[in-house]
Amino acid sequence: WWNVMVAPVRNHAGEVYRIISVSRDITERMETQRALKASEAKLHLGVDVAGLALAELNFTSGTVHLTPAAARMYGFGESAVTVPRELFHSKCHPDDRKRLETNIAAAMDPYGKGWIGVDHRISFSGGAVRWLRVRAQVTCEDVGSERRPVRAMIVAMDITSEKHLEMELRGNEQRFRQLADSMPQLVWSARPDGFWDLHNQRWVEYTGLSLEDSKGTGWTIVVHPDDLQILHEKWILSLKTGQSYEVESRYRRHDGEYRWFLIRAVPVKAADGRIVRWFGTSTDIEENRRLGAALQLANDDLKHFVFSASHDLRSPLRTITIFSQLIQRNDTQLDENARKLLVGIEQTSIGMSDLLSNLLTYAEASESMNLTVAAPVDCQQVFERASAALAGVMKECNASITYDPLPVVWMSATHLDQVFQNLLGNALKYRKDDEPAQVNIAVLREDRHWRFSIRDNGIGIKREYQDQVFKLFTRLHASEGKYKGTGLGLAICRRIVEKYGGRIWVESEPGQGSTFHFKLPAEEMARGAASGR
Ligand code: ADP
Repeated sequence: WWNVMVAPVRNHAGEVYRIISVSRDITERMETQRALKASEAKLHLGVDVAGLALAELNFTSGTVHLTPAAARMYGFGESAVTVPRELFHSKCHPDDRKRLETNIAAAMDPYGKGWIGVDHRISFSGGAVRWLRVRAQVTCEDVGSERRPVRAMIVAMDITSEKHLEMELRGNEQRFRQLADSMPQLVWSARPDGFWDLHNQRWVEYTGLSLEDSKGTGWTIVVHPDDLQILHEKWILSLKTGQSYEVESRYRRHDGEYRWFLIRAVPVKAADGRIVRWFGTSTDIEENRRLGAALQLANDDLKHFVFSASHDLRSPLRTITIFSQLIQRNDTQLDENARKLLVGIEQTSIGMSDLLSNLLTYAEASESMNLTVAAPVDCQQVFERASAALAGVMKECNASITYDPLPVVWMSATHLDQVFQNLLGNALKYRKDDEPAQVNIAVLREDRHWRFSIRDNGIGIKREYQDQVFKLFTRLHASEGKYKGTGLGLAICRRIVEKYGGRIWVESEPGQGSTFHFKLPAEEMARGAASGR
């Protein structure tokens, strides 16, 4: 780039006889101007993209010049505008004006930082309100011996939606606090990194710790030293895996007494699956544990009683049976009536002995449940054993049993044997007089269980009794005399099946036969699954 200046040189007659030209290389100046324009354009683009608006305050003229974006933001129309300073400030919401003025006064101090950073509302005609985040830099110059503010560059951004969100969040947090404070439990929440940042009032009342002292890991001071490690390990595991947290631990009360708590927490996730917070409760279970321990003791006593009572009672019963048999065999003087009575005594004592033996099985089924480790059991083998034990009855009633291929289940073989023996035994026992017993065992895989269905063609069970037959000592056909039993077989089956997380039920029509369904685990169940339904 060149700047060229040309001047004519004239003679005394005024004629141009020469031309003088001076050329200057101005490439550098032009480049600088171009770069300046480009950077200004970039700045405007950046300001626009960032949703910022610019305004310049001139302290000397007392006016503010606003770019189109700023004019729009402050409600001065669509194009760039210069307005008196007072008019510009009058847009500020009355409730925020004092705060803004204090900030401006501080920024105008020629020896201060000259910087304002403030969020304030502006009000529009018609009552609309918007939130702005304003940053301004004041420039001072020396005028004579005085230093005075001359200009301020103002950058503003509309943060209305951010403020609304913030207020909503604050409202939510307040609602959460109210809810947490109204709960009888100790409620807490933690950040995704595991930092406990919030406890409810109940926590403060129980522990005597302040909210501030409970933050982070401060709360662990009330945990019983013996429980701290397991509590910590489980918490770290939950944070790592995002799985719910559950642990029992003792917390020290403000008066120094420790009580047992059940501590639970669930992760709260964002739409993308990220954990944003943990919410937890600690529930006082001291009373439950005390009652549980007392119940356990009472249960143990009861089991002990059942064991010894049935053992001790069975031996005199055996003696009664043997003596009555001996009398029948050896006493030739007995008349018919006396013999009948002796047979009655013998059968009653055998029935009593069966009842005791079933009671023992029932008690053992619950006693051994927690001690028995489930293992894979081949149902085919157990079925063969059970049907061998029933061979006599099968022959007597000309029975036939058909079955699907039998699978492997996860439980104790003894328990499976008891279930098969009771259900197959009943299917044969409650047969019709005029038909040979036919039994079928169907097997179906359902999720993590095998569902067995033992169908017979016997006398059936009325609908209203179909739940009751699983209760202790319920016998529907006892009055008919011919069906011997104790009313414990199905109760034993239910106890066993439910302890393995399964279910047992019956479908039946009187005169049409019955189908007993039950589900047993097809695979190893997690510990605890076997203790419930
Ligand atoms: P029981 O020792 O009397 O057989 P259970 O507990 O095994 O005791 O059965 C309870 C009652 O349920 C029986 O007395 C009988 O009335 C009825 N019951 C059980 N199984 C069958 C079946 N397959 N068909 C008809 N009734 C049955």
